[in-house]
Amino acid sequence: MVRGLVSALRRLEQVSRPGDAQFAAALRARWAGLPEHVKTPGQVLGRHAVGCEGTHGVFPKCNLACTPCYHSRDANRVRVDGAHTRENVEAQMRLLRRLRGPRAHAQLIGGEVTLLDPDDHAAALEIMRRHGREPMSFTHGDVDYDYLRRLALGPDGHRRLRRLSFAAHFDMFMFGRRGIERPPDEASLNPYRAAFTAKLRRLRRECGVRTFAAHNMTVTPANLDQVAEVIRATRGMGYGMFSFQPAAFIGDERRWHEAYRDVDGDAVWGEIERGVGTRLDYRIIEHGDVRCNRVAYGFYVGERYIPVLDGDDARDLAVRDAFYRHLGEVNFSGTPTPLLLAQLSRVVAQHPTVLAVAAGWLGRTVRRAGVGRLLRHPRLRPTSYVMHRFMDAEDVAEAWRLMERGERSEDPRIKETQERLSACHYAMAHPQDGTLVPACVQHSVLDPGENAALRRLLPIVEVRARRN
Ligand code: SF4
Repeated sequence: MVRGLVSALRRLEQVSRPGDAQFAAALRARWAGLPEHVKTPGQVLGRHAVGCEGTHGVFPKCNLACTPCYHSRDANRVRVDGAHTRENVEAQMRLLRRLRGPRAHAQLIGGEVTLLDPDDHAAALEIMRRHGREPMSFTHGDVDYDYLRRLALGPDGHRRLRRLSFAAHFDMFMFGRRGIERPPDEASLNPYRAAFTAKLRRLRRECGVRTFAAHNMTVTPANLDQVAEVIRATRGMGYGMFSFQPAAFIGDERRWHEAYRDVDGDAVWGEIERGVGTRLDYRIIEHGDVRCNRVAYGFYVGERYIPVLDGDDARDLAVRDAFYRHLGEVNFSGTPTPLLLAQLSRVVAQHPTVLAVAAGWLGRTVRRAGVGRLLRHPRLRPTSYVMHRFMDAEDVAEAWRLMERGERSEDPRIKETQERLSACHYAMAHPQDGTLVPACVQHSVLDPGENAALRRLLPIVEVRARRN
């Protein structure tokens, strides 16, 4: 009995350690591999995360049409095949775990994820979790509640997934959505945006599954001036993240219809700020190169958005630094609450100053939000804003060709592309040769060949009715 108690205490000591050794080593390796220009005080890579990951070639087909579409022209000629999906998700996740460490956020992405049978979709998510990945499924959101229910519950009717995360893409350049085949503008999609999160709420209620929804939207010159209104109209719908992607010349060139480069990052970010109603400082916490990613974290109190940190306040920047220093290795999203509290208690025991730093931040944040407003709106809504700016295929192809030969370009555009690729936040795995590539390289350079091969491997067989 004593031996049992000792081993239980030892186990408790292990699991309540803030951060594990493998993840700490993965962070150190990530930091060491970053180019100098992104080793800024705000850089989160190598301090708290290794970056995002995504699948490729596991279900290329989609049943909507987008302009632009980041998938190569053969993608829609590849059959959806659950066995292929499971096998390739497994291989890709295994490599990501080996090369990037025991945990990361990973996107189950390709064509339209809900074309997968719910059992195959659930199996893919479980594989990702088994490899320490926190999965998020990418969808156009045109999905029935029954599909979500069958995804959450196994064939025996029991809950098989504790948490489901979706990134739902809505914008007026997507054609074929049921009920609104060709949206005339962004506002006309708002009922569909709301309907998607309503289905997730129902799933929580009826199946006991925790859910998270991110909203994705492509931005071109044609909808740039609608971004602010989309933000105002959707902020209460239940999305915890809004990600905007300025369109790039990447993927299927038959679907390039505008002068996409007329929309630069500052213009999009400016419209996001206009919609949110406050300045969003994307230098406080950086994800890779800020020319690729801008991110702002905060929460809504009623209709007012409060950034979690104020970049003009040195005390808030000290909070960020203390977080990276003492809590960087703690896993906040995947750890059960009692265990997380045990880990935090140990951090406080080792570094009691953390408490004073946290209390100061809390006081300032409450003042910024306003005590009266907090009392009137006690339900805070954490929300982050993201801009992810893919690069043009032509530039990526040239930059990558040179990088593979170990050469640096002096052409300013290609030089910038190389700098951004070398700090990439978003990796995809190639188990056949043990390499990771930036998603830009996947879509610009590798997708066409990959999808052409998949088209032969998984052909879509046309079934025609026989005439008598
Ligand atoms: S290099 Fe491309 S895929 Fe990587 S973070 Fe930058 S824009 Fe994204």
